[in-house]
Amino acid sequence: MLNNVKVVLVGTSHSGNIGSAARAMKVMGLTNMVLVDPQCTVDDQAIALAAGAGDIAQNANIVSTLQEAVADCALVVGSSARSRTLDWPMLEPRECGEMFVSEGQTSQVALVFGRERTGLTNDELQTCNYHVCIPANPEYSSLNLAMAVQLLGYEIRAAFLQHEASKHSQAEELEYPRHKELEMFFEHLEKVLINTQFISQEQPGKVMNKLRRLFNRARPEAQELNILRGVLTAVEKTNKLDEKQ
Ligand code: SAH
Repeated sequence: MLNNVKVVLVGTSHSGNIGSAARAMKVMGLTNMVLVDPQCTVDDQAIALAAGAGDIAQNANIVSTLQEAVADCALVVGSSARSRTLDWPMLEPRECGEMFVSEGQTSQVALVFGRERTGLTNDELQTCNYHVCIPANPEYSSLNLAMAVQLLGYEIRAAFLQHEASKHSQAEELEYPRHKELEMFFEHLEKVLINTQFISQEQPGKVMNKLRRLFNRARPEAQELNILRGVLTAVEKTNKLDEKQ
């Protein structure tokens, strides 16, 4: 999914910012940088500031217009320090991260950043489906370009990690044993506890109830229940050996 995210830098004039933006991207797992009409080259300063993320800046796709950069993107979000210059649908940084993760599953999505001094032009802002504004100090709201990339990149990563975690927890839910399997385990457990004389056949009640409560609370997964069944079978086997001797 993260490979479907394009970070588009428009008209960047300081090569150091390209390098710092590359670094900001790489730490968040983003690799796809596009430079629109850059006013500088990916020079030594860019590579120095990229600090190990120089590959991202060097492999950046260079195009001449924003239209070209986002032609294949289903979602385009422009970032701007000025939240209300145009009356345009706005996203909070968090919402922006979540939207990128849900739409980026199946299509290319682009996050667009403007020039250091003048930001994005109105035409460029109107190319975007949404605008995102980092709610900074209203009296001093303009972040350094690479820092804006860092912050919005982090929101994409946080949403991505949450999405992955919920995928795993769904998969784990499927691995819980069926009720019937749990009942079979309780029967097996009771049999072994009677055979080993831990409980008496006449009064299995209380202990079994408590053990049922314990295992229901613990909610063993299917694999864990298999292990417990294995333990009971091993006890049974040793018991039989003991009886034979
Ligand atoms: N003076 C410019 C700021 C440019 S900063 C302006 O008024 O737009 C360079 C880029 O960093 C911006 O174009 C934007 O893409 C991003 N950026 C900086 N601060 C931001 C903020 N508070 N919210 C969203 N993006 C921001």
